[in-house]
Amino acid sequence: MAVKVIELKCIGCGKCVRVCPFEAINMIDKKAKINDKCTACGQCVEACPVDAIEKEEKKFRAGGVDVSLYRGVWVFAEQRDGNLLNVAIELVGEGRKIADALEVPLTAVLLGNNIDGLAEKLVKYGADEVLYANHDLLNVYTTDGYTKVIYDLIKERKPEIMLIGATNIGRDLGPRISARVHTGLTADCTKLDVDLENRRLMQTRPAFGGNLMATIVCPDHRPQMSTVRPGVMEKAKYDENRKGNIVKFTPDLKDEDIRAKVTEVVKGGKAEVQLEESKIIVSGGRGLGNPEGFKLIEDLAKKLGGVVGASRATVDAGWIEHSHQVGQTGKTVRPSLYVACGISGAIQHLAGMQESKVIVAINKDADAPIFKVADYGIVGDVYEVLPELIEALDNVDDIMEAFKAMNK
Ligand SMILES: Cc1cc2nc3c(=O)[nH]c(=O)nc-3n(C[C@H](O)[C@H](O)[C@H](O)COP(=O)(O)OP(=O)(O)OC[C@H]3O[C@@H](n4cnc5c(N)ncnc54)[C@H](O)[C@@H]3O)c2cc1C
Repeated sequence: MAVKVIELKCIGCGKCVRVCPFEAINMIDKKAKINDKCTACGQCVEACPVDAIEKEEKKFRAGGVDVSLYRGVWVFAEQRDGNLLNVAIELVGEGRKIADALEVPLTAVLLGNNIDGLAEKLVKYGADEVLYANHDLLNVYTTDGYTKVIYDLIKERKPEIMLIGATNIGRDLGPRISARVHTGLTADCTKLDVDLENRRLMQTRPAFGGNLMATIVCPDHRPQMSTVRPGVMEKAKYDENRKGNIVKFTPDLKDEDIRAKVTEVVKGGKAEVQLEESKIIVSGGRGLGNPEGFKLIEDLAKKLGGVVGASRATVDAGWIEHSHQVGQTGKTVRPSLYVACGISGAIQHLAGMQESKVIVAINKDADAPIFKVADYGIVGDVYEVLPELIEALDNVDDIMEAFKAMNK
């Protein structure tokens, strides 16, 4: 209730009861009492001859906002060179679920230059609305440019939730926006839920080196902002027939708004391994003993049509590039088949692969924690098991024939 009676001043004259259009005031023991029909219209405040009724200013916690003014779920649809990143599609999938639960529209925020096709794609993936800022200064990512455009949009349209992929760009952009809007940001979330009663986003992320999962809420500030780990959420399904509203606009952005100028974009010489895209991953750990061990891992990966992953211990040892690392500080993967060779199964490694459909572990220690998540386990030396496995795969057709014959 936003109108209150100061009992000591009330003389029980009843004028307020007569002027109230909503029957929201009763006279009890010669004092005016406001009931829950009150809409805070303020007519009683005007009518009271003794100033016994006043409008209560809404009190917000330090720097907080009236959260009821903010509605809708937004996702930042990151694109590079006119291609939507997978994490953008994952966020549309996750954002859709949250928006449906809160019964609000899902909006994708797309920034770029002449990439109309992507706006349509976002609708087909599940966005109800795409706010598409089209400008030649948005061609390449700049912190200043992207922050300004999104900040202006938030000020104007007031979303209650904003999700950003925790890519290099997203991790740069998210905090800049949240500081400018003065709201909370939870970085690198791996799970999101909503508390429907308070419309709060429950943002869960690993903390203390992955030994603790922290669930963080942002009660008094809006929008509630999260960066979300790529590869963790499921991708949205594409529906050719889906319809939505594309709001294409030219943002108010000038050259001088952007302090850091991008003079050149240099792509890494080596194509990064596409771990998140792969259905089959064969990973090696410190159990390989030396970098040459990865040749065996590569052989098996090739045989299975997959790619090579690695534990952090091997990356730290300089045996393999960081782009192969799976885990909390590497990539999060969910392939159909994950083969862990000589990997102990530390919690930080499991954080990146335990959602895989089938996990096979090869380790000479029968008590290694990796066996707790493995669907199939082989206790043995990788240097004995892997060559046998590779050879067996050469003869897989013969083996299958023999197997079928046995079961006839
Ligand atoms: C903040 C933080 C973030 C981290 N992020 C990551 C991350 O993203 N990814 C990650 O992987 N780790 C991460 N770590 C490190 C993690 O805690 C472990 O140290 C790491 O995963 C261990 O790698 P490993 O399993 O290869 O090595 P080890 O733990 O040393 O395990 C080697 C395993 O190989 C087995 N073995 C040895 N010889 C053989 C053999 N011949 N044949 C078969 N098996 C054999 C051993 O029994 C053992 O189980 C992180 C740690 C911290 C603190």
